[in-house]
Amino acid sequence: MSSSNAFVTLATNDSYALGALVLAESIRKVGTSAKLVVLISNHLSDLIKQTLETSFDELVIVEELNSNDVEHLTLLSRPELGITFTKINCWLLEQYEKCVFLDSDCVVRRPIDDLFQREEFSAAPDAGWPDCFNSGVFVFKPSKETFRQLMNFASQQNSSFDGGDQGLLNDFFSNWRTGDISRHLPFTYNVTANAFYSYLPAVTRFRNDIHVVHFAGATKPWQLTYNPQNEQLSGNLTGQSDIQRDFLLFWWRIMHQHVWPILT
Ligand code: UDP
Ligand code: MN
Repeated sequence: MSSSNAFVTLATNDSYALGALVLAESIRKVGTSAKLVVLISNHLSDLIKQTLETSFDELVIVEELNSNDVEHLTLLSRPELGITFTKINCWLLEQYEKCVFLDSDCVVRRPIDDLFQREEFSAAPDAGWPDCFNSGVFVFKPSKETFRQLMNFASQQNSSFDGGDQGLLNDFFSNWRTGDISRHLPFTYNVTANAFYSYLPAVTRFRNDIHVVHFAGATKPWQLTYNPQNEQLSGNLTGQSDIQRDFLLFWWRIMHQHVWPILT
């Protein structure tokens, strides 16, 4: 009886959960008819977990790895794939017909329900290497069988060339690069913040078309400090362009106006 759509994200600690909360509020603000699902581990504080419960339709606690499962054990000896393992749990959500995964360091600016018309596996090109997709936003069809195949694939040596989920998924869905162009999402569905300085004129030209901003990279919005009185950001902002600052402010306004009140 799977007939519905869901946006899915992942938060294994309180910091990434703050991102998930802003993401959820940003999706609600632009409007959606899909469910919101967050995959969590049991390392979250009670306060954050309760807030996630009010913001998301469904919290799914990601199971600890099963000690008598050979495939999972193989993964366990490769700790750098921990997050990879956690993310691919999204394929287990068979109660949904089709889903869109979004990293919790994403924020939505325009409606994105049209993504559910896309087929598995759809994703946007990575700004650093456009022959690869960025795995921060992707359309998938939950399937225990696909999950099993991904786990098998992940347990093979050198299955992830970057040690994370992006390398793994690019190798697994390796026909994305040359296959059906409709599986290539427009870049506006996953505008990685670190792409701004490589093509600033394009960001300026297309800024009103941007559906999703993805704060990929080491500096996350929640690591900065925001002063709501004068809307000033402080923290490690070196090298940030004005547009990057605008997007960080966009994130922080949602944090301040929509997440903060339900957190306290
Ligand atoms: N993530 C998490 N806990 C972690 C690291 C990552 O829950 O300790 C999740 C979170 O949803 C995050 C995603 O995995 O957005 C991918 O990691 P990240 O966004 O840091 O990678 P980047 O986009 O910077 O390459
Ligand atoms: Mn990310």
